[in-house]
Amino acid sequence: MAGLKALERAAIVAVGSELLTPSKLDTNSLVITEELNRLGIDVVAKAISGDDRDELAAVVRGLLDRVDLLITSGGLGPTDDDVTREAVAGVVNRALVEDREITARIRARFIARGLPGPMPEINRRQAMVPAGARVIPNPNGSAPGLWIDEGDHVVLLLPGPPRELRPMLKELAAGWLKARAPGLAMVRRVVRVTGRIESHVDEALQPLYREWERADPKVAATILATFGSIELHLTVRAPSERAAAASLDAAVAAAAAVLGSHVYSTDGRSMEEVVGDLLVERGLHIAVAESCTGGLMASRLTDVPGSSRYFRYGVVVYANEAKTTLVGVPAALIGEHGAVSEPVAVAMAEGVRARSGADLGVGVTGIAGPTGGTTDKPVGTTAIAVATAGGTTVRTFRFHGERGLVKFQASQAALDLVRRLVSG
Ligand code: ATP
Ligand code: MG
Repeated sequence: MAGLKALERAAIVAVGSELLTPSKLDTNSLVITEELNRLGIDVVAKAISGDDRDELAAVVRGLLDRVDLLITSGGLGPTDDDVTREAVAGVVNRALVEDREITARIRARFIARGLPGPMPEINRRQAMVPAGARVIPNPNGSAPGLWIDEGDHVVLLLPGPPRELRPMLKELAAGWLKARAPGLAMVRRVVRVTGRIESHVDEALQPLYREWERADPKVAATILATFGSIELHLTVRAPSERAAAASLDAAVAAAAAVLGSHVYSTDGRSMEEVVGDLLVERGLHIAVAESCTGGLMASRLTDVPGSSRYFRYGVVVYANEAKTTLVGVPAALIGEHGAVSEPVAVAMAEGVRARSGADLGVGVTGIAGPTGGTTDKPVGTTAIAVATAGGTTVRTFRFHGERGLVKFQASQAALDLVRRLVSG
């Protein structure tokens, strides 16, 4: 393959009519993008096509000239609605010829898997190969992948089932694709921030953006905001993965210095993982009493494998009586301050801490909405308390957004308060 142009720009076409419905998401292109980026290959366009030969051919034709590498996923099955082979062969003007080795392999697969009867004739379709294409073995399925050299361009056809596509892609990334990669590694790191709004984070980072723009290698930065969390995505392309990582380490450290304790993760961990790791490190146990979050905090904490090492229990004390009977919040306190108040959050945190025997007790009480707000306490008002041996900390927040978002932000703020207290 020496002398061929490096594959710098790629496009991905996900094939499958189900991917055009509201119920099925194309995830293959994400896996493909990750693998290509690691090789320093940029993905410049993505498309989704239904199982329609003409439609798919038009999409492929439109992209092929603009990229060095075009990867399709899906539509390599044996049935009539699997049209990728035919569509691509048409675009690159190749005849489809049967590869007898593939037919033999599919037949052997049928026998090995003890499938009833001989191989159906339609499976022969999967052995049809555009003239001159190289065959990519598929250890987990019957449809092999295909590599078509079209001048300096490459068209790569991969099967749709993720469990078939992934291992084939890994194999290619270590072999044929690597041999044609631009020799630049691309590494990405995510800095996760909470407790600040996007524009503040952006503003604080402005001087760094300018520095990163001028740096060699350049650090590309994008901000992604969701309620309760802001992510700064940093990407570097460098001659080696190590060089890229070194420059990213410096960029991450600089961002963390600017954003301070609002940064909760720089290594891909979620908030609940960070909190869990801190609790394990300090040998602490936690218990939670939740009202408006309805168990979301307990759910997130227990999403982490091994959380039994630090999570005692959670109670959802939704009704006022439950707050009293289950975690001992005095009814009079609720009467005096209202269920959504700092004194009640404190009593919930201290109550669940005392009853569970955990080192930390958390109380969350708020108005998730859309109804139930007042002028004093609008929807989103949430009191969060964390009780420890050293005393109890309480804060009131005003979250925005619909019910689900308020619940998520409340759980995020509660976990963040725990993080701050435990990490000191
Ligand atoms: P098969 O031989 O199984 O028919 P195929 O190559 O024809 O393989 P498809 O029929 O397109 O692949 O898809 C098979 C399965 O893989 C389906 O369950 C489909 O939903 C899933 N799949 C296909 N494309 C994607 C994608 N881009 N992202 C996630 N899942 C996908
Ligand atoms: Mg199919």
